[in-house]
Amino acid sequence: MSISVRGATKLYGTQKALDGASFEIGKGEVVGFLGPNGAGKSTMMRIITCFIPPTAGEVQVCGFDTRTQSMEVRRRVGYLPEHNPLYLDLYVREYLDFVAGVHGLKNRTALVNDMVDRVGLGPEQHKRIGQLSKGYRQRVGLAQAMIHDPQVLILDEPTSGLDPNQLVDIRALIKNLGREKTVMLSTHIMQEVEAICDRVIIIDQGRIVADDKASTLRERQMQGAVLEVEFDRAPHANDLLSIPGVLSAKRKEGTTWLLAHNAGNDVRPAVFEFAVKVGLKVLGLQKSERGLEEVFKELTGK
Ligand code: ADP
Ligand code: MG
Repeated sequence: MSISVRGATKLYGTQKALDGASFEIGKGEVVGFLGPNGAGKSTMMRIITCFIPPTAGEVQVCGFDTRTQSMEVRRRVGYLPEHNPLYLDLYVREYLDFVAGVHGLKNRTALVNDMVDRVGLGPEQHKRIGQLSKGYRQRVGLAQAMIHDPQVLILDEPTSGLDPNQLVDIRALIKNLGREKTVMLSTHIMQEVEAICDRVIIIDQGRIVADDKASTLRERQMQGAVLEVEFDRAPHANDLLSIPGVLSAKRKEGTTWLLAHNAGNDVRPAVFEFAVKVGLKVLGLQKSERGLEEVFKELTGK
């Protein structure tokens, strides 16, 4: 097991940030750690990376206890903190060399070259960190997290604050890194999980509320597709329910109705047949899926 968390609880004074959270992450898994702001994601990650101890519970990384064997844990973990605190006055290469030194690594120049290549910092490597765009700063953050070749990468909201292009680049980079490492990345964005992760752990108010394959979450989302249909005049709701495959019918506005159905079942032909039968015209048809946000709300009971 790369990460094993059993009953982790964290109190900040009287504020309970984690409330008996348990999960395991196997070697090579890429896991999304999803939850709303304040759910306890960063707290969990700080505990896993030995920055703070849990108030109660046991957390192990690669079989080493975060409290009693923190040096062993730190050697095996790379960490990109939430507000990636970089030294803005340092040059990119200077900073990476400094981090390599902190880890007591040899052949530092070769290591820095390698990291610059791997995270795509080539054209920016001779700049000061303060001169870089947010996307490139995140690359520096990833390079610093990986320079000691850890087995486990803990990335706290690695794409927050990036523009759409940077987002795509950084996601691709993380996906690539995930081929050889165990990755746990936190996010409050559902699409991110779909784009990068095999598995999703959902946390809410310090408790784990779901732990499943990303594809299962996707299936939950797919249940409950909605077809938006505009007729030329108002149909009767009960008549709409007679359309095979239609689970519920709700008026959106005017003569536009929302018809719920299972995503695997295309009800459009049946809707046309129904319209012809009752003498209505279909003016518009639009498919829409239930947003992942809604699935999330369902799982967290909000
Ligand atoms: P997330 O990363 O999911 O947004 P955090 O782990 O940062 O959540 O925070 C979880 C809860 O703990 C929040 O209610 C937050 O306000 C609180 N919290 C986090 N850090 C501290 C701290 N150092 N002192 C007091 N409360 C904190
Ligand atoms: Mg956070």
